[in-house]
Amino acid sequence: MAEKKRKKNRFGFLAKKFPIRMQRKLVMLFMAIILAFVALIGRITYINVTRGSSYTRIVLDQQNYSSRVIPYKRGDIVDRNGTRIATSERVYNVILDVAVMTDDEANIDPTIRVLEECFGISEQTVKDTIEENPESRYSIMATGVDYETARKFNEINADNENYPNIAGVWLEEDYNRSYPYSTLASDVIGFTYSGNVGAIGIESAYNDVLNGTDGREYGYLDSDSSVERTVKAAKNGNTVVSTIDITLQSIVEKCIVEFNQQHAGDGNPGSKNTAVIVMNPNTGEILAEASYPNFDLNDPRDLSILYTEEQWDKLTEEEQINAMNDLWRNFCVSDAFEPGSTMKPFTVAAGLETGAITGDETYYCGGSLHVGDDDIGCHLRSGHGTQTVQGSIANSCNVALMQIAESIGVEDFTRYQRVFGFGEYTGIDLPAEAATSALLYTSETMTSVDLATNSFGQSFNVTMTQMASAFCSLINGGYYYEPHVVRQIQDEDGNVIETKNPVLLHKTISSETSDQIKEYLRAVMDYGTGQSAQVEGYDIGAKTGTAEKLPRGNGKYLLSFIGYAPQENPEVLIYVVVDEPNVDAQDNSALVLDLSKQIMEEAFPYLGITTIEESEAEEGEQAASEEGQNFGDTEYTDYDENYVDTYDNPDGAYVDEDYDPDLDDWASGDSPGEE
Ligand SMILES: [Zn+2]
Repeated sequence: MAEKKRKKNRFGFLAKKFPIRMQRKLVMLFMAIILAFVALIGRITYINVTRGSSYTRIVLDQQNYSSRVIPYKRGDIVDRNGTRIATSERVYNVILDVAVMTDDEANIDPTIRVLEECFGISEQTVKDTIEENPESRYSIMATGVDYETARKFNEINADNENYPNIAGVWLEEDYNRSYPYSTLASDVIGFTYSGNVGAIGIESAYNDVLNGTDGREYGYLDSDSSVERTVKAAKNGNTVVSTIDITLQSIVEKCIVEFNQQHAGDGNPGSKNTAVIVMNPNTGEILAEASYPNFDLNDPRDLSILYTEEQWDKLTEEEQINAMNDLWRNFCVSDAFEPGSTMKPFTVAAGLETGAITGDETYYCGGSLHVGDDDIGCHLRSGHGTQTVQGSIANSCNVALMQIAESIGVEDFTRYQRVFGFGEYTGIDLPAEAATSALLYTSETMTSVDLATNSFGQSFNVTMTQMASAFCSLINGGYYYEPHVVRQIQDEDGNVIETKNPVLLHKTISSETSDQIKEYLRAVMDYGTGQSAQVEGYDIGAKTGTAEKLPRGNGKYLLSFIGYAPQENPEVLIYVVVDEPNVDAQDNSALVLDLSKQIMEEAFPYLGITTIEESEAEEGEQAASEEGQNFGDTEYTDYDENYVDTYDNPDGAYVDEDYDPDLDDWASGDSPGEE
């Protein structure tokens, strides 16, 4: 009131000369001038803001966007040698502030032209956006714009001389996930969706490790009406170092692809599935893991490798989703199948370990064995004749194995299946490991026929991961290591945050049994079913498998080969599975033997696996030198010397009491009593 009064008094002099109507007009004019002045100041401030170098300020000026998210960078996934296999690149989103752009008619056309010139955004798209949301302060016009394009735009935007009327466009920082090796190790690596959510593979299993925390920029107006900003920086995600060796992985995948191309035909791929695991038997590290067909991680929803466009369009949405999930499935982890004859060494090991057999027994195979009410056949219908234990493994005689299992008995046989981890999760650090406990018999449910068929790998299911991990323990002295695909976590600068040491889960068999089994497995390569996979120069042990799939009699087979080298202190294990090869007669083990040989021929030299020549030279050196020398040059480079033995022995039932752990000696390569 007081102010009003004072104003009235101040204009009082006007009353004397101007009529009341004129007075009102003058007051209004005066007010209008003040308002115009205020608007002008506002406009100047506004122009300062919009023409400033950073468009963030305009955002800060709006109540809707008083703060801005600073996105974190998701961590890389690198292979064991540091080669990047998944990475996040800085990209930009093009944001249009429609209200600012349309505020001045003069801005509209030049801005539209620049949007088209820089980002290829059509005039129509921009006009549609304006029409749909005339007041929008934040319309995303383009995403994933690369740095070079963004730089070009920023130059144009800053060039007020040549481009005077650009308004309302700004770039928002973002990251784009990319995979430099596209299809390589696709189901092990995995991919991300809706920003930073990992799907399948390491991307999923280590999602939280890879992700960071967004930062934020807060803006507020201080007492002088200028914008104050505080920045809380983003915390970028960690780098995951895989155990995978990308060169080895390439070798394996190349061989798989060649095999499948060779056998593709009649519109079918070369096999329903071809999968390979290469593992370090002394650590549980998976060096390569592949299943075919794989897919492009940069475009995981592209199934053109399997379907023509026409075929794909005919599928329902549900069928398409199922097809994608099938393709993304990691066969090595998520699929269970009857292992077939690769099970036989486990049966023999259980026999030796329980004392049911000594290894000196012989068995007679007349082509089949009468068990319960059935005659269960050997794969060699004419019979193998008299077989030693070694011969029964080398020749893969079902009849001998059934007799060995019978002497072990249901109780110990089922117990040893669990000791070897069948029916259990391996604990591999990948998602979707198949549950297999229901796929095994217990001592209560197993009949004599089940025992007989189980002895040679039928009537129960395993995963490749289970088989490979358990087999490692057969050949490394009885140590069951947890299989894993990640060896280290690093921060964004490469500082080690966490090292994944080999995890020794338990002991499966004694080192004596392990040595004996290895002799049998060597015989497979010397004179048995694995001969044709022999790679010259290497001392290899192995077991083959030719499993007829259910329902039997349909001619569908799963072929497998599991081998290692060298015989003394095995350095690598390789497991190859060909599921339903696309050939007339699927029960042809030569198919999987050829593929395995090809992989080993290339992989062993690359990995530097000890050759026969090298071990002989080593033995010579050892013989020449004094007693109590070391184990030679076998390098356990991956072995953590600070590893604490977590040897778990809950009931002691399957433990060799005389066993004396020599882990430390392995680690250092030194024998006891030496430095
Ligand atoms: Zn036989």
